Amino acid sequence: MTSLTSGSVPARSAGADPYPAPRRSAGPRAHRSAGGPGPVVPRPVRDKKEYEWVSARTVLAVTGVGAVAVIALWWHSTPDVSGLGGWLTGAGELLGLLAGYGVVVLVALMARLPPLERGIGTDQLARWHAMGGRYVVSVVVAHGLLIVWGYAVEAHTGVVSETAILLTQYPDVLMATVAGFLLLGVGIVSMRAARRRLRYETWYYLHLYTYLAIALAFSHQFAVGASFIGSLAARFWWSAMYATVAIAVLWYRVAVPLRAFARHRFTVIGVKSEGPGVISVYIGGSHLDELAAEPGQFFRWRFLTRSLWWSSHPYSLSAAPGTDILRITAKNLGDHSRAMSQLQPGTRVIAEGPYGAFTAGRSDRGVVLLAGGVGITPLRAMFSTLPSPVTLIYRASSEADIVFRDELDAIATARGARVYYLVGTRAEIGGDPLSPRMLRSLVPGLDQQEVYVCGPSGMISAAVEALRDAGVPQRQIHFESFEF
Ligand SMILES: Cc1cc2nc3c(=O)[nH]c(=O)nc-3n(C[C@H](O)[C@H](O)[C@H](O)COP(=O)(O)OP(=O)(O)OC[C@H]3O[C@@H](n4cnc5c(N)ncnc54)[C@H](O)[C@@H]3O)c2cc1C
Repeated sequence: MTSLTSGSVPARSAGADPYPAPRRSAGPRAHRSAGGPGPVVPRPVRDKKEYEWVSARTVLAVTGVGAVAVIALWWHSTPDVSGLGGWLTGAGELLGLLAGYGVVVLVALMARLPPLERGIGTDQLARWHAMGGRYVVSVVVAHGLLIVWGYAVEAHTGVVSETAILLTQYPDVLMATVAGFLLLGVGIVSMRAARRRLRYETWYYLHLYTYLAIALAFSHQFAVGASFIGSLAARFWWSAMYATVAIAVLWYRVAVPLRAFARHRFTVIGVKSEGPGVISVYIGGSHLDELAAEPGQFFRWRFLTRSLWWSSHPYSLSAAPGTDILRITAKNLGDHSRAMSQLQPGTRVIAEGPYGAFTAGRSDRGVVLLAGGVGITPLRAMFSTLPSPVTLIYRASSEADIVFRDELDAIATARGARVYYLVGTRAEIGGDPLSPRMLRSLVPGLDQQEVYVCGPSGMISAAVEALRDAGVPQRQIHFESFEF
């Protein structure tokens, strides 16, 4: 069955979000706006997107300059290369330097640096990190093999006896070898087939062994690396690079969230059922405007209860952030999301963020929001705040799966916006509800609009392809995946 609903009344200021108040008791630290459904006036949409100057090209250029500097360091410190042994060793040393640089870049991508998080977006960074990780692990393995082979050729001995010498007589090399195996192990458990079989948390905590690997491998670079042995300046700048990224990780992943916890005092106000398996959690706090969170962004939430404190999970804001209240909405997909329905008012929360580049700058174009399933959450927040003419298209497999229907209809009515619910399986509908033809018929002038897509990854790929086929230029298509 297809259900298309459209609400359309004269436009009104986009200022007020009909923010629904939680039904349950406000708890010990009652929030001043928790008593009634008073409208929250959201922050105005920025003229420009934050960190708009950060693009894939900028990141690639900075990374490329670093790689060229590393090659220059090797070139400068490598005398004439001659003979098979010399070539093998030289190539092994160059790959070792590139691997040492590569791990720093990989960690920097995940250091929660605001220009990257808000300019590029966490999901894109995670994809780069995963792709780069595969290259770095391959380079580490090639480095080890070439060095051993090269040394063996130069010393006229066998590869096995050269390996034994390096491992027994050079403790730094032994530590680096352990580090190499750790990195290889992390690479293997991160492969799609292995990762699917692991719980997310198991994979995540195994992944943290990367830090141990980096620490173990560090000293061998200076102890045996030809580029560093004779150059204090090279050792200084190399150490400075590692130290800068280590400080950034500690600052942005640990200190900033703890400081925000102390300053904003995030506390659960209440939990509300939104439909089968979907709940909203209302989180109060003070000075929340200082966070400068925007509709479309997400936080990593760590609820300080006995069973949930040890893991943080990403959830998007499902309503425009207020000055003292935030709302997230979670679909019950596993242990964490299920446990969230049991949260009690008064539970303290560590919120890390805001993150994400899935935000809208001011634009003269109309806006189309395309939601699939629980991907409605960030789009619901944007729907009530974007100033341009907005059309929301919400794809759900059944009527029961539609969340926020009353809110969406109320916002559409108040704003003169349009909302379409595309409900049913393909078989029931008799075709693809997100086909280029259907999208064009719902949104006249589609190719002139900015389009924001959020939903399961399969739905995102299909929607992006359909939008391209419908003539929407790639630069006008923005999407966020709920999978890292
Ligand atoms: C940027 C972003 C925004 C999101 N916003 C929402 C939202 O508004 N509403 C909503 O319902 N869901 C949202 N999600 C998905 C939500 O984070 C996962 O469904 C949730 O973490 C599942 O955890 P679980 O223990 O309940 O299920 P599990 O069965 O443990 O996990 C199910 C899947 O969720 C992912 N996942 C699990 N834990 C984490 C984690 N700590 N960090 C990242 N991914 C994880 C993994 O892909 C895993 O396969 C968002 C995800 C991302 C990346």
